[in-house]
Amino acid sequence: MRIHFLGAADGVTGSRHLVETGDRRVLLDCGLFQGWKLHRERNWLMPPEFAQLDAVVLSHAHLDHSGWLPALVRNGYRGPIHASPATCELAAVLLMDSAHLQEEDARRANRYGYSKHAKALPLYTRADAARAIAQFRPLPPGRLLSLGASQVSLSPVGHLLGACAVLLATPDGRLLFSGDLGRQHDLLMPPPEPPPAADVVIVESTYGNRRHPDEDSAALLADIVGRTARRGGSVLLPAFAVGRAQALLLVLQRLKRAGAVARDLPIYLDSPMAEQATTLYRRHGELLHVPARELRSLCEGVRVVATAQQSVRLAGTRFPAIIISASGMATGGRVLNHLKVMAPDPRDAIVFAGFQVGGSRGARLLAGEREVKIHGEMVPVRAEVRHLEGFSGHADRDELLQWLGRLGTPPRQTFVVHGEPDAADSLRAAIGQQLGWQVQVPAHGAVVTP
Ligand SMILES: [Zn+2]
Repeated sequence: MRIHFLGAADGVTGSRHLVETGDRRVLLDCGLFQGWKLHRERNWLMPPEFAQLDAVVLSHAHLDHSGWLPALVRNGYRGPIHASPATCELAAVLLMDSAHLQEEDARRANRYGYSKHAKALPLYTRADAARAIAQFRPLPPGRLLSLGASQVSLSPVGHLLGACAVLLATPDGRLLFSGDLGRQHDLLMPPPEPPPAADVVIVESTYGNRRHPDEDSAALLADIVGRTARRGGSVLLPAFAVGRAQALLLVLQRLKRAGAVARDLPIYLDSPMAEQATTLYRRHGELLHVPARELRSLCEGVRVVATAQQSVRLAGTRFPAIIISASGMATGGRVLNHLKVMAPDPRDAIVFAGFQVGGSRGARLLAGEREVKIHGEMVPVRAEVRHLEGFSGHADRDELLQWLGRLGTPPRQTFVVHGEPDAADSLRAAIGQQLGWQVQVPAHGAVVTP
């Protein structure tokens, strides 16, 4: 077997690993690069290695794992895209929205003339996304799928509705790809299933150098909400529309029921995609560990902002409220309408609940930058900016090591991917020291024959 590391090898985005099994070329994940410009520019290049693929297997629906599929299809890929049934449904929602955002960005750049190019073009269109979605082939977890002389199977790892680790059993050995690993105690998802035996492992390292704080995130959120409302401000929760938005709704509903957040404080869900995703979460209740009654009442009393005009109008009205809006790293989408108005107001609070990739607006705000560029203009930052890491959907360093430790027999080689360089290197060192395994962090573009 030969592995080409073509993304998420020097950062957390653009997850894509090409495996040559002898008779097949299988791409594990096909993610979009986000964050640093240096990384985002890779979205515009079709790696020559992608020219003759036989199959794509997706670990989960998040765009940094699935968001380049429409571009792959646009570049001529016509083969199957295998993923768990829930991942197929979620990815369909995410890809259409991503294509819409790409089209919108290009249109806005052309209208206001802030593109460096004569005419800004979208990376891909909704038609490209629809074509990619038509190539999805649902593969239920636990079922074996033959790809030539190899077999693929999926096993749930928490993290996100439908998220799975991928096992590719080739004639040269069994390759396990963790995808993104969830937590032992998540608000929505059950803990990851133990890993199947493997000879080669590719493991993520988003939180490879960090332990999640032992804090009561719900109480912290209630505290911020209360404090902000008392000074007449609003709380903006930039949230990934899929996963974190539902977790935040669940917590806010619990806080309201407990009286920890004022019952009459309005909650706005300003993300049509989050609403669609919430419907999917409800439909797949059997994959979650949330009581059915709570799942049904997730949006009770929540005001869903339907149109883009309503979103702009909401951003213009100033009264205490909680606004959940995407994208989660404030890299685009309707959250920018609110950020533009709220960032300069010291009464307001901006609370990030998910991982913020380096170079994203979210990471810049959390680093304390006093100015942030939105839609081509500089906006001062005077609002309170907070990070509630406890809402993360990612395993931390200890949980990653625990999951790997359950493999039993050590694999002959382990590759650490999907982490900022210090996180990846820290997990590499821990795997070597604590588990005694052969382990390395591959460089972007590295090719190995493990
Ligand atoms: Zn993910």
